[in-house]
Amino acid sequence: MPRTIPKVGFVSLGCPKALVDSERILTRLRAEGYLIAPRYEDADLVVVNTCGFIDSAIDESLEAIGEAVAENGKVIVTGCLGAKGDIVRKTYPRVLAVTGPHATEDVMQAVHFHLPQPHDPFTSLVPPQGVKLTPAHYAYLKIAEGCNHRCTFCIIPSLRGDLVSRPVGEVMQEAENLVRAGVKELLVISQDTSAYGVDVRYRTGFWRGRPLKTRMTALAGALAELGAWVRLHYVYPYPHVDEVVPLMAEGRILPYLDVPFQHASRRILKLMKRPANTGNTLERIREWRRMCPEITIRSTFIVGFPGETETEFAELLAFLEEAQLDRVGCFAYSPVAGAAANALPDPVPDEVKEERRARFMHCQEKISAARLRNKIGRILTVLIDEVDDAKAVARSSADAPEIDGSVFVRNPGKLKPGDFARVKVTRSDTHDLWAEAL
Ligand code: SF4
Repeated sequence: MPRTIPKVGFVSLGCPKALVDSERILTRLRAEGYLIAPRYEDADLVVVNTCGFIDSAIDESLEAIGEAVAENGKVIVTGCLGAKGDIVRKTYPRVLAVTGPHATEDVMQAVHFHLPQPHDPFTSLVPPQGVKLTPAHYAYLKIAEGCNHRCTFCIIPSLRGDLVSRPVGEVMQEAENLVRAGVKELLVISQDTSAYGVDVRYRTGFWRGRPLKTRMTALAGALAELGAWVRLHYVYPYPHVDEVVPLMAEGRILPYLDVPFQHASRRILKLMKRPANTGNTLERIREWRRMCPEITIRSTFIVGFPGETETEFAELLAFLEEAQLDRVGCFAYSPVAGAAANALPDPVPDEVKEERRARFMHCQEKISAARLRNKIGRILTVLIDEVDDAKAVARSSADAPEIDGSVFVRNPGKLKPGDFARVKVTRSDTHDLWAEAL
């Protein structure tokens, strides 16, 4: 009689860090012989990986859990929402188990208990790179979990704990497996990438039998040897960040720095308790550009933080004009339950926050459009993400997936996703470029 293979449904919500957690759990499930069911009715139980960062994410996560409970009934909840007290259990007392983020072992224990592991060794085969939720040609590489800072608007440290760096040898092995499996771009992520290794005092690990420091610069240098694009995200402007810019200038890693500045007013940055907020940021940006003229600088900002005055907001706009950043995201401050900033005096009214966000984005859009216009006529190397008959959607070194713009390539010919191509830029708008394949 044929044996029934247990099937697990999976719902993955949240940021790239949560996505990596989902990939780890899916990898373990497949490695142990479980099948992944695409529909609730086909699954023996469902795992929901949740986000708990802001109110809208909490609502979305609760809704997803509710749907899984209604459609399937056997539900295990993991992720950031699981770490936020007993909100999940109170809302859905029927869920089988609740864990916090970064808890593959706990999730697997709960799965084993409610849906015993299959024993067919043939179904345990899983590719060495694991199961990926991103397209085959790029992958997120999570190098650490948690954060030692206590930014007053953020509850990540209370959800995920202090910084825990992954061993550098393990990170490199994972990166090597990914590249061997066809990944062309590695996106390095954590809560604070430049702090990698602080918790282990930059311990020396080993890769390919040679010593390698648990430190961002050493890791970036080693990743560069793998031959894939390497893109660094969430880098704080500590002094040693200057060490990775030469790797960018030499073309070893992508000339792309994702630095969340959050504000320009010294007083607001202090109220936010931002790390590395004391240096002269404009001076640093000028220096990075001097060292690597090709560098793309991406950042995010919060407007309408409690107590932000019109003068301080104007200071932020002046900074934006001066810094001429390439890519910028802007959020109106939203009080996250449990964040220390909620207790600060002088909250900014919602309509003022929105109005400041609109002014901020208007200012940045002009900067972005002008910077992209300067690229017309240039020849770029791009990585192809999608192709249809008339065009390919691609990205250059200046474009991270999901968050930045695209390069639309006309006449893609035989180009396919995952190919690198040389293109000539013909047109631009506020966020994207158009180009001809060469
Ligand atoms: S650096 Fe600040 S914003 Fe980023 S995760 Fe840590 S506490 Fe949160």
